[in-house]
Parts: sequence; structure tokens; C-alpha cells
Amino acid sequence: MEIKGELLIGARAVKAQGTAVQAINPATNEALQPVFHGGSQQHVEQAATLAWQAFDPYRATGLEQRAAFLELIASEILALGDELIVRAMAETGLPRARLEGERGRTVGQLRLFAQVVRAGHWLDVRIDPAQPERQPLPRADLRQRQIPLGPVAVFGASNFPLAFSVAGGDTASALAAGCPVIVKAHSAHPGTAELVGRAIQSAVAKAGLPEGVFSLLFGSGSEVGSALVSHPFIKAVGFTGSRSGGTALMQLAAARAEPIPVYAEMSSINPVFLLSAALASRAAAIGKGFAASLTMGAGQFCTNPGLVLALDGAELETFLSSAAEALAQAAAQTMLTPGIHRAYCQGIDQLQGLPGVSRVATGLAETGPNQAQAGLYLTDAETFMADERMSAEIFGASSLVIRCRSIDDMLKVAEHLEGQLTATLQLDDADLALAQQLLPVLERKAGRILCNGYPTGVEVCQAMVHGGPFPATSDSRTTSVGSAAILRFLRPVCYQDLPQGLLPDALQDGNPLALRRLLDGVSS
Ligand code: NAP
Repeated sequence: MEIKGELLIGARAVKAQGTAVQAINPATNEALQPVFHGGSQQHVEQAATLAWQAFDPYRATGLEQRAAFLELIASEILALGDELIVRAMAETGLPRARLEGERGRTVGQLRLFAQVVRAGHWLDVRIDPAQPERQPLPRADLRQRQIPLGPVAVFGASNFPLAFSVAGGDTASALAAGCPVIVKAHSAHPGTAELVGRAIQSAVAKAGLPEGVFSLLFGSGSEVGSALVSHPFIKAVGFTGSRSGGTALMQLAAARAEPIPVYAEMSSINPVFLLSAALASRAAAIGKGFAASLTMGAGQFCTNPGLVLALDGAELETFLSSAAEALAQAAAQTMLTPGIHRAYCQGIDQLQGLPGVSRVATGLAETGPNQAQAGLYLTDAETFMADERMSAEIFGASSLVIRCRSIDDMLKVAEHLEGQLTATLQLDDADLALAQQLLPVLERKAGRILCNGYPTGVEVCQAMVHGGPFPATSDSRTTSVGSAAILRFLRPVCYQDLPQGLLPDALQDGNPLALRRLLDGVSS
């Protein structure tokens, strides 16, 4: 399929005239054709109006029809074939195997949401039948279900050009909920975005759905992105990216005449706690596993382990030398964009220039453009807590180890941390008492707590939480990965004393959709 550099507004493909957007192959610094141009206010208006017109008919689709639509999107993405992988490789510098795996995850995610839609649990049906004889007052007939919020603006992530971009988790969960979607493509991979966008556009047409169910806009965040978030027809936002971008969108959404929710996944340093018995029994193995997690994908994961805490002692030294040995053999890797590479280098320069921070190890030096050298740094608890710059995410393969003098130090640092996507405990049985002390703190700080593993690698499943308190996300009550992500785009409506003929199918007597329901407080 030819990449034409066009916006997709409903069923149309449109050439825009705004600010140029051109992908750069980060491995060569070569500019990739074609040049895209950013959309105008008028394009935002057209996409938002179509999305609004599509909202009622789209949310009225049956569970089976909507599930089949999500499966059709998956098939259309697969039908793009190798062209999608080749373009994504050129635009991101990510290797083939990683992108093929990510395509599998993207397609799997759409199919998971199809299953979720069919099962219908997300409708969360609650029925409290009327009690006309109740004293002193009768009770009305009360029935509740969830409905979708309305058109959703999605900002794709740079680091998951497939699984968290145009047809990624935000889009899949919003479409599953019954919300039309308008994507503001990430400017780093516009060709990949157009290919996937055309696959969704084709699925909309084949499924016979209103064209406004999906649109794709190109252009800068501050122009097209802001106009989209400010548009009155947009009712929620999904975002993955930087803390500054996410907070700017939160402020914009809150300042609207009708404020709307922003589900932004932003920044996290994912602390790893190395408890004493675990270190005593396997410090070298932990060091090796940690280095592999740190350097995977050039460290460009929101769950990258950017902070390590351990008690001072010989076992910590063993961990450090094992991690240093593994890092010393780690090749420098191409980062996603020149801008992300620049931000990584600036972050490292700042960190190693801070008083009280020393360098433990680095990876192999770069051999090509936009490559990043991994780095491991060391400080102590007091120094860390005294300087908030040490808590900032450095997006890439860099981590800071905190040498703690006591368990009290470790607990204080845990308490000092900002909100996180993950917190990891490396522990053995003899560490359980300390783990019990840490757990309540970590529950307050993180969306996912894991033991004896590493935080990278986020399973897309029913129980996943990829969320956490600010600044990990803008709303700690939700997740952006896994089936519960659908709940972000829903709200409850209660129907009081409506006649059967006026009630939605999900709430009618006789349960025509065969849904799991809470009937008079009892699950049935
Ligand atoms: P970004 O700069 O936040 O951009 C993400 C998206 O939001 C882009 O489409 C961007 O538009 C838009 N945007 C940014 N600021 C905006 C604003 N003020 N108003 C409206 N829209 C705005 O993220 P990035 O380009 O992916 O990477 C930059 C940095 O973000 C990285 O170095 C890293 O620190 C962090 N990052 C974190 C994660 C994570 O998962 N935690 C993932 C990726 C990146 P444009 O097209 O104009 O850029």
C-alpha cells in the first residue's frame, strides 16, 4: 500500500497544508518520504463532527457486531503484511523481531477486547427491583448500566509504534467501549501511522459502520493535538508520552468549559528493592538479570528499572560488579528519535554531574547515529532524597543504585518516591518480614508490585494494572493496559421506573443478552 502522507478524516483521505512532519530513520539520520503536513482547525472540526455524528449509532451496535469489528481491524492490520514491519523499522530503529512481536501484541489486544465486548461484564448491570410494599416508603425500580463517554482523542506513543499507537491499547479499549476515536499520530512514525490508520478505515467501511468511528490526524501536538483536546465533541483523552506533554493536556482538558478526563501515562522510574537474603543467596544472578532488563529495547520502556535500592555490604558489591560486567558487554542501541536520544544524553550528563553521584559502569560506546550507551550510577539515600532531580525519569538504559545504610533508610526512600507504574521486590523467605513492612508503602506508590522478576514486559490480560499515582499516570484509578482499560471510557447511567420497552436490552427482564447481573444485590 502506498504511503501518501494524507490525513484520514472518516472515509476520506486528505492532503493537508500545515507544518511539515517528516520521519527520520534514527539509524541513519535519513529523512523518509513522503513529507506529511499537519492538519488545520478545519480538519479537527471535520473529524470531531463526524465522530460526534457516529457516536449514537456506533454505541447502539450489538455486542457481537462490535466484537467482530475489532477482530476485523486485527485482520486488516495483518493483511498489511511485511510492508508495515519494514516501514516501522525504518521510522523507529527498532529491530524486526521486536516489531513482529509488537504486531502480535497489537492484534492480540484487539482480539482480547473483542472477547471482553462479547462477555459484556463491562456493562456492570445492577438491578434493584421495585418494592411497592416497602415501609415507610416504597422503593422505585432502579437499573444501572455503563455507557460510553463519547469521542476519544488518542495520542500514540513513540516507544510502541504499533501496540500503543494508532490501533494500540487506548484505541482498542475506547472502540470496545463504544467510543469513536480520533488519533493524533506521533510525529516520529507517520508512515506506520498512516498504514495502520488505513487498515482501521477499511475495517470501518467493511463493517458498515458510520465513517466517523475513526479518524487520523497528523501535525504538532501544540497545534492539532491541543485543538483536538479543546474541541467540545471530544469527551476523553488517552495519552502515552512525557510528563510535560501529559500535564499540558491535563491542564488544557481541565480548563475547557466542560472539563474532560485525561488518561495520561507519563513517567516512572520503577524502583527495584534488593532485600538482604535474596542478595546473599544470588547477588550475581540478580545483577545479570537486572542488566538485561535495563538494556532491553535501549531502555525505552515506561517500566524500565531506573532505580535500585539495597543495603550496603559485600552482597551489594557483588550485585554491582555482576551488573557492571554485563553492562560492559552491552552494545549501544539506536534510540527512537534524535530528540529522545538528545534527552537521554542530557539526562545522563545531568545525573553524573550531581554531587554525591558516582558512575559504576557503562555499556559499549556508540558506533552510529542516535545510539545510547547504557549507564549505571550510585548514590546514597540522604543524597537521593535531598535532590529531586535524581527522581526524574531518564528515558533510556540508565539506572541509579541507592546504597542504604539501614532498613530505615530503605523505608524512608520508599516513602519519598513519587507515584510509579511498578515496584519490584527481589526477596527470599528470610526477607518476608521486611517485605511486609514495605508492602503498604509500595501499594500507595505503585500500580503493580512484583516479586523476583523485572518490571519490563507488561502482559496484556484481565488482571494487569499499568497505572499508578501521579506522575506515573494522571488517574491512579485506572490502567492503560489489559481488559480493565475499557472502564476508562465508560460512565454509569441509572434508569428509574422505565417501562420494559424503553429499557436497553442489557437491563430488560428475562436478560435477553444473557449477561452476568447483580440482581437485588445477588450476582446471577
Ligand atoms: P511527548 O513529547 O510527550 O509526545 C507524545 C505526543 O504528545 C506527541 O504526539 C506530541 O506531539 C504530543 N504532545 C507533546 N507535548 C504536547 C503538548 N504540550 N500539547 C499537546 N500535545 C503534545 O513524548 P515522546 O515524543 O514520545 O518522547 C519524549 C520524551 O517522553 C522521552 O524522552 C521520554 O522522556 C518520555 N516518554 C515516556 C514514555 C513512558 O512510557 N513513560 C514513553 C515515551 C516517551 P508532537 O508530534 O508535537 O511531538
